[in-house]
Amino acid sequence: MLVGNPRWYQTAYRRAVIDMHIPDWDEQFLSQFDADRYVEMLLKARAQSIVAYGHSHAGLFNYPTKVGQQHRGLKGRNILGEVIERCHKHDIAVVIYTSLIFDRWCADKHPEWRMVTHNGKPQGEGGRHGVLCPNSPYREYVRAFATEICQTFDFEGLRFDMTFWPSLCYCQHCQKRFADEVGGELPRKIDWLDERWVAFARRREAWLAEFAAVATDTVRKHKPSATVEHQSSTYPLNWQFGATELLVPKNDFLQGDFYGDSLQGSFVRKMLEELTPHRPFGYETSFSHELRDHTAMKSEALLEAKASAAVADAAAFIFIDAIDPIGTLNPLVYERMGRIFDRLLPYYPHLGGQRVRDVAIFSSLESKFNMATNGRGPDMVDLSDAHTASSMQVGRRLIAAHVPFGVVTKQSLHRLDGVKLLVLSNPMAMDEEEASAIRAWVENGGTLLASGPVGLIDKRGHLQKDFPLGDVLGVTLDTVDWSGSERYVAPTAAGEKLFENFSAKYPAFVTTPGTTVGVRAGAEVLATTTLPWPAPDPSRFSSIHSNPPWKPTDRPEVVLNRFGRGRAIYTASLLENVDGLTETYLRLVRLLAGQPSFTAVAPPPVELTVFHQPDRHRYLLSLVNFQKDLPNIPIEGIEVRARLADRPAGAQQLRRVVRLPDGLVVDHQTTGGTVTFRVPRLETLAMFALETM
Ligand SMILES: [Zn+2]
Repeated sequence: MLVGNPRWYQTAYRRAVIDMHIPDWDEQFLSQFDADRYVEMLLKARAQSIVAYGHSHAGLFNYPTKVGQQHRGLKGRNILGEVIERCHKHDIAVVIYTSLIFDRWCADKHPEWRMVTHNGKPQGEGGRHGVLCPNSPYREYVRAFATEICQTFDFEGLRFDMTFWPSLCYCQHCQKRFADEVGGELPRKIDWLDERWVAFARRREAWLAEFAAVATDTVRKHKPSATVEHQSSTYPLNWQFGATELLVPKNDFLQGDFYGDSLQGSFVRKMLEELTPHRPFGYETSFSHELRDHTAMKSEALLEAKASAAVADAAAFIFIDAIDPIGTLNPLVYERMGRIFDRLLPYYPHLGGQRVRDVAIFSSLESKFNMATNGRGPDMVDLSDAHTASSMQVGRRLIAAHVPFGVVTKQSLHRLDGVKLLVLSNPMAMDEEEASAIRAWVENGGTLLASGPVGLIDKRGHLQKDFPLGDVLGVTLDTVDWSGSERYVAPTAAGEKLFENFSAKYPAFVTTPGTTVGVRAGAEVLATTTLPWPAPDPSRFSSIHSNPPWKPTDRPEVVLNRFGRGRAIYTASLLENVDGLTETYLRLVRLLAGQPSFTAVAPPPVELTVFHQPDRHRYLLSLVNFQKDLPNIPIEGIEVRARLADRPAGAQQLRRVVRLPDGLVVDHQTTGGTVTFRVPRLETLAMFALETM
């Protein structure tokens, strides 16, 4: 039973959202809403839960509210109550939707609560949305409607959407809080090397978490049995949104909507898995190609690939549809999702356990900016994030090489059990706590692969004179190049084996952000910088299209260092961003991490994930085929390899390999501690249990 169960989300892997951001200035709007039909659609789709709208971005309520404005097209009807009653009859868990910050009705009624731009205008003036500042008295309105919902309805969860900063706010409430808490005027230059700007960034993160707590605490007080969650798509997004670890405890589980490709999906699922207070977390995407297209439908192949990838990451999958303005729904959407969920249904009972991650990619939620555009004004905010972008490139290399990986954040640097290699891809901001946890990890035998300006800015906006982890990495800082200039990476004799297609004469071209460093005693230089032909004036060249390698130097590019019982490799440039160095990057990974504990011989679009389920005496191994152009071309003859000898005691002896969900026993061979078995044909998803003694 899901209804009335405070842990409903633990078994509800198939979820639906029906967007209802409908205004009421035309009397046809929502006039044909039919709760029976609505629930019939959910049943068609095999949805176990629904995010049912209590309130929307339009700011109107779907029941007779006493604290706000009901949608006039409903003529006093309580359609939220109708939906809840019918869903509960069919054991569909109900999560009530409300929209925070984005509330058009409230913004029109209380213009004094709106966010204000740097030049004093209401944010979004003249557009569709009205956005309210969480530092204004608006928060009391949120408390009032959350209380009303809790006291009026029976439901399983409350979802607060849009808990983020859509822009910088210069309203009087923000000005006052900044003056009281930091002192002086709000800064007007985005400068990560200015402590006043960084103080503003830190305050925004804290203010957002405090605002989220207003909503969360109201639900926990008046409806302690209900789950609470806030929109979680913002954790991988840049600093402007203000989402950091501070926001996480305001949720029972994380769920966010994403519209990117298979790489983005894979990376963000590992990130939400790392952060979520309780599992499973939810991976959400629109049924349509994009939200602005009301009628398009993602192909069944694409939706199935996304939902299958969510299965392989043990995530709940949520599809988002949008109601028609008059209140009707397109049944084709629900039929298509129903067919997909029907096929995936037998897999869900197998999910759970601890992810096997040979490699952990460190995600620094305070490094989500781009120094290449540092110093801009609030009229030219850059939404890019150099740290997350390069971390995702590491993910891309590992997926294609079938190396199981996870994402870690500050909160888990002390528990890297089972991890063979920790990757730091360009985390520019670092605090002493993180640096000492990472140092201890290597000292105690861990390995580290770090690139670029690692930790060169502290979390208060001070540029460091040297790397906080310089002793671990075996380097000292000379200069930092935040935006990246042309250079070549040339292997030394010691590093030759790492560079398949490159040599001292033909070194690899890079333009990534990077550093120039010196090497500390005892460290080994695996590659050095070769400078390009210097191009002294725009009209002269040595080769018309390029600046070929010209002057070798002894500046270290790749350095291997032993520290304590562990080893570290530092790359001055972000080699993970260079497609031509994919094999080199993977050789660095293998040099540090050794052979993967689980891997496959398969083409790059196949991702392998593994979860250890000690209570079921098995490893759950999934393969997802997610090609760029769909439908997938099936892949024949994949070989899976598992080195169980590397695994913890008690989980090393294989009993048998079973294909799921049908239970067919699969032949396997064991040679020198490695188990191999074949997957004759992979369409989109394959799952196996490797049962241990
Ligand atoms: Zn404000």
